[in-house]
Amino acid sequence: MLKVTDIGKTYGEFTALQNINLEVKDGEFLAIMGPSGSGKSTLINILGLLDQSYTGEYLLGNKNYQTVNDNELSQIRGDQLGFVFQNFKLLSTYTVYENIEVPLIYSKKVQNNKHQLIESVIEKVGLKGKEKNLPTELSGGQQQRVAIARAIVNQPKLVIADEPTGALDSKTSKEIMDIFEKLNQDGTTIIMVTHDSEVAEHAMRTVYIRDGRLYNDEKSVKNHD
Ligand code: ADP
Ligand code: ADP
Repeated sequence: MLKVTDIGKTYGEFTALQNINLEVKDGEFLAIMGPSGSGKSTLINILGLLDQSYTGEYLLGNKNYQTVNDNELSQIRGDQLGFVFQNFKLLSTYTVYENIEVPLIYSKKVQNNKHQLIESVIEKVGLKGKEKNLPTELSGGQQQRVAIARAIVNQPKLVIADEPTGALDSKTSKEIMDIFEKLNQDGTTIIMVTHDSEVAEHAMRTVYIRDGRLYNDEKSVKNHD
């Protein structure tokens, strides 16, 4: 699915990432853990093709998109990637159905069964009957379900989730993680950033970031202190 080789990233004088090497296989569910400020967002912004200014090489599906123009990039992001955020980022004046429809409106993929596609993801995330509701009429967990449905409606290869349970209580977090697990079992590759080790347990593999460096297990982070 993707391969990161020796990636580095600086903000001015500040080194946010260094010597990052990471491979994610098709069908994996990877959790990225690390304290606040360790570089998690910086890394997933690169993986999600939101940031093109880094050193080293990033291949997504064997392709290097570093020199691709912004128009093409947003097309690729829309067609191949799905994003889920801590604060859901739903459009507040759009209904559940309309929020989920948005990626399909911008997609160049041929979809002649849009309605069925939307209904099938609504069913998948357990929101049948809520199509006409506004986000403000839903609980946090339900809003995150809408966001997940929106992220997968284009059938992306890769879903990137940044603290998807960060705003949810632990019971709701578990329900959301069950949805991610089911999604992964259906073949979607998932990369998730989390602070919560219980949430990370739902992933197949966890890597750790500390001060802009990536570690494959917690022990090697501690050995570096
Ligand atoms: P995390 O997601 O793990 O909290 P970030 O990737 O957001 O960490 O940030 C890593 C480090 O880079 C932090 O020290 C942060 O302050 C810094 N940083 C992030 N974005 C910028 C930016 N646009 N300009 C300057 N420093 C930044
Ligand atoms: P997160 O929840 O990922 O830790 P942050 O609050 O660290 O989010 O960062 C939110 C946004 O602010 C990110 O887009 C990041 O790039 C930017 N940012 C973080 N730290 C800095 C900084 N020191 N200077 C400028 N922008 C920053």
